[in-house]
Amino acid sequence: MKNKEYDVIVIGAGPGGSVIARRLSQYGHSVLLIEKREQIGFPVRCGEASTTLEDIESYGPIDEDCIETIIDGLFVYGPGGTTVESLKKDTGIMLNREKFDPCLAKLAEQDGVELVTNARAESVSAVIGKFREVSIVTPEGTEKIKGRMIVGADGMESLVGRMAGLKCLHNVNSTCTGVDIEVEGILTDPRYLTFWQGHDFINDGYIWSFPKVKSNVTNFGAGFLIPKSKDLSIQDITLQWLYKLFPEAKVNKITGGLISVSGNLKEYVTDRLILVGDAAHHTNPLTGGGIAAAMRAAKEGAEVIHNGLIKDDLSKNFLKNYEERCSIVFGKKHQLLLKFRKFLLGQKREDQIEFYKVIKTFVKSNFSYLALIKCPIITLKCLYRYLRSSSKI
Ligand SMILES: Cc1cc2nc3c(=O)[nH]c(=O)nc-3n(C[C@H](O)[C@H](O)[C@H](O)COP(=O)(O)OP(=O)(O)OC[C@H]3O[C@@H](n4cnc5c(N)ncnc54)[C@H](O)[C@@H]3O)c2cc1C
Repeated sequence: MKNKEYDVIVIGAGPGGSVIARRLSQYGHSVLLIEKREQIGFPVRCGEASTTLEDIESYGPIDEDCIETIIDGLFVYGPGGTTVESLKKDTGIMLNREKFDPCLAKLAEQDGVELVTNARAESVSAVIGKFREVSIVTPEGTEKIKGRMIVGADGMESLVGRMAGLKCLHNVNSTCTGVDIEVEGILTDPRYLTFWQGHDFINDGYIWSFPKVKSNVTNFGAGFLIPKSKDLSIQDITLQWLYKLFPEAKVNKITGGLISVSGNLKEYVTDRLILVGDAAHHTNPLTGGGIAAAMRAAKEGAEVIHNGLIKDDLSKNFLKNYEERCSIVFGKKHQLLLKFRKFLLGQKREDQIEFYKVIKTFVKSNFSYLALIKCPIITLKCLYRYLRSSSKI
């Protein structure tokens, strides 16, 4: 490390860490960004589907080769042969995270952030005066570096929050295990993100097929809540589905990891420290997607920290502003999606089929509630089941 002391130390150079580090540096603060891996973004443990191009580019300029595919909609295979197709131009994109994560980190460096890879935060001290001290392990040894403010952007297996006394352990019932298999060629319609969900496939989650058109590969995967089947590993189950749906599939590589689908942590700030992205369980509890939320949280976090540094107030009380902002921009929506997931997965097969039919009618009519008049009985049945399921949460 070039210095012994920084305004902000950011731990973890995933999308959340790089975005917040860059923004804080743009505001004129001294920022150290440390990443334990040697190569940022590698190995990729992600399906790589994300938000719209416009949204992603607002964190840019993003190199062209980070964008694999422009996605124009979703195709869902539901139970009982039901399908839902939603065609909407520029719904999202497929990223190439092996390129995207380093691109964000490079932008941060260009804007003045000191980036050190192969540097692992081993401990974070309690507040000492106006600082916390981070013990950083590199191949050269261990250094203690002071930060007025610490950001834990250290992902799903975050230790930073725990080191600072935040309650951020994962709950088995709201943790998803994801397996991503890179398959040669494009398996499904390249315009769409394709899903298989429900009792005929994987009910505790879903199967996905996401096309990476530039690289001519598909991310095929599955994510579901643990604990699962007693006799087969999650990887075996995913591979079985791959060969059942695409017998000729040629596998390039397999990766996997855990995804929090709990909804945001209740508390993810304390004096002179905040958590961002997966570390704060910012992932979407229905889809398990977390790239967009991590970057959005980073944007909100940077503004609050900047204001706190100016006012010389980085107390837990002041940093609560960050939690409130995240709650407004995605937290409340995540709570609703959590309820929706519990409802959907909790349905019997027959009820799920009815629900999929209602959704199909709704989507086909371009999201017009009036169209549901065509199927009033099943709509009312589904609404009743949803309200009953929500009241139990
Ligand atoms: C199988 C799978 C599929 C997924 N598919 C999708 C998808 O299609 N779309 C989507 O939006 N999301 C998906 N996700 C989730 C997505 O990957 C995460 O939500 C996203 O990466 C969160 O970004 P982040 O910056 O918070 O954390 P991360 O990207 O996890 O970055 C954290 C960084 O911190 C580093 N780090 C950890 N500890 C330390 C330490 N002590 N010191 C220094 N550095 C440290 C890590 O090495 C890592 O680089 C998937 C996840 C999995 C597991």
